[in-house]
Amino acid sequence: MITVTEEAVKSWMHNVIKREQYEKFMEGGKDFINDEEIWEKLKENSKPEPSKVRDIIAKALSLERLEPDETATLLNVEDKELWQEIFEAAGKIKEKVYGKRIVTFAPLYVSNYCVNDCEYCGYRISNKHIKRKQLTEEELKAEVEALVKQGHKRLIMVYGEHPSSDARFIAKTLEITYGIKIEGGEIRRVNVNAAPMSIEDLELLRDIGIGTYQVFQETYHHETYKRLHKGIKADYHWRLYSLHRAMEAGVDDVAIGALFGLYDWRFEVMGLLYHAIDLEKRFGGVGPHTISFPRLEPAVGTPFYEKNKKYIVSDEDFMKLVAVIRLSVPYTGMILTAREPKEVREKVLPLGVTQLDFGTNIGVGAYSKGAYSPEKQQFLINDERSLDEGIRWLAEKGLITSFCTAGYRCGRTGNYFMDIAKKGKVHKLCMPNAILTFKEYLLDYASEETRKVGEKLIEKELESLDPKIKGIIQDYLKRIEKGERDLYV
Ligand code: SF4
Repeated sequence: MITVTEEAVKSWMHNVIKREQYEKFMEGGKDFINDEEIWEKLKENSKPEPSKVRDIIAKALSLERLEPDETATLLNVEDKELWQEIFEAAGKIKEKVYGKRIVTFAPLYVSNYCVNDCEYCGYRISNKHIKRKQLTEEELKAEVEALVKQGHKRLIMVYGEHPSSDARFIAKTLEITYGIKIEGGEIRRVNVNAAPMSIEDLELLRDIGIGTYQVFQETYHHETYKRLHKGIKADYHWRLYSLHRAMEAGVDDVAIGALFGLYDWRFEVMGLLYHAIDLEKRFGGVGPHTISFPRLEPAVGTPFYEKNKKYIVSDEDFMKLVAVIRLSVPYTGMILTAREPKEVREKVLPLGVTQLDFGTNIGVGAYSKGAYSPEKQQFLINDERSLDEGIRWLAEKGLITSFCTAGYRCGRTGNYFMDIAKKGKVHKLCMPNAILTFKEYLLDYASEETRKVGEKLIEKELESLDPKIKGIIQDYLKRIEKGERDLYV
């Protein structure tokens, strides 16, 4: 139990926001989301001609990022056949940029204390049905060890906004996590989902080796945002420009997202696009490393979901929005989480997804105890497959699970990563390393059944490599079989 006096919380909250760190990005006091303009674009581009839609699909297939009018046009498509063409293009773009690789990760919730009162969230301060918990050092180690033993190499660590989980606390938890090694297993990349921070705090996390820094705007619609958020989070701009500050602080990879179900899904897709464009404009063409598109889920003690069905996104519309994001920002990674049930992940995976979580358990402290604890969760999850089951499922589809983090350690982040992603070269550089890390997983953690499917897939993928690289990889695979680990090219 964390004990921070009400006075201390208030005084901390008072000092978090530094207006001068976002006002400088605003033009004439305005941010880059113009609600009226978005609605106008959606209206102006309604009932598009098929030829216009096909021209836009062709542009996206050439890996060019779309302009707002073009995305608005796609969002207005009604014809089923044209949607089918958009879906197919989404899959092709993903394969062109990222190849037959899928990155997997696990979310690790570190603390569910939060000073904010977001109406839809199980962690909101007014929710008396949630059990508050922040991991101690020992508990964090136990969680990380449990994840490493499953075979995970990448985490996204999640923290509520609270003085007890400030930047120094987050830095400490990253340090502890990176320091854990068990029988050759370790976490090699820690991404962070945490509240917006100041440039100084972000510099601290940069120095400790933060992976991608993820802040979702939740909704880009100003009025809806204002209505749903209380506490520090009520400041729309502090949040909207959080990733601008991160880039300024030298955090190379930043991730955007919207919580679909709070407002009109077409509007939110436009908001994500404008966000990507503004980041590109200000930071030498570097846009979001990933985009997330979670759908609103029920949470313990949180009636919001039941009472607000107006903007709930159907499965059909969900497929559309994922595909349009894929076409709009071809270079970005796209994350589809275990919030979605297996059947939905099955349908949405071919629409451009690059990252999935498996073996997910989001109650704070739940991995080490193997416990399901909805009263410690921010929301409920719907795909409870283990990492092994997930990897087998992907392998049966011909997809290699990549645990590779070599790219980051070789400096393939920020500008450099963006450049190779925009030229569609990620898969060329990353597939050999994906095969190597996949092999490690198969040897160290996989079930017999998964190993069989995986080994077959490796054989097949080796054939598609350049002959020179193929020789090197075959040699490395032998070394891995003999016990070497963490080999990369
Ligand atoms: S959405 Fe985030 S900021 Fe809002 S109450 Fe939940 S944990 Fe706190």
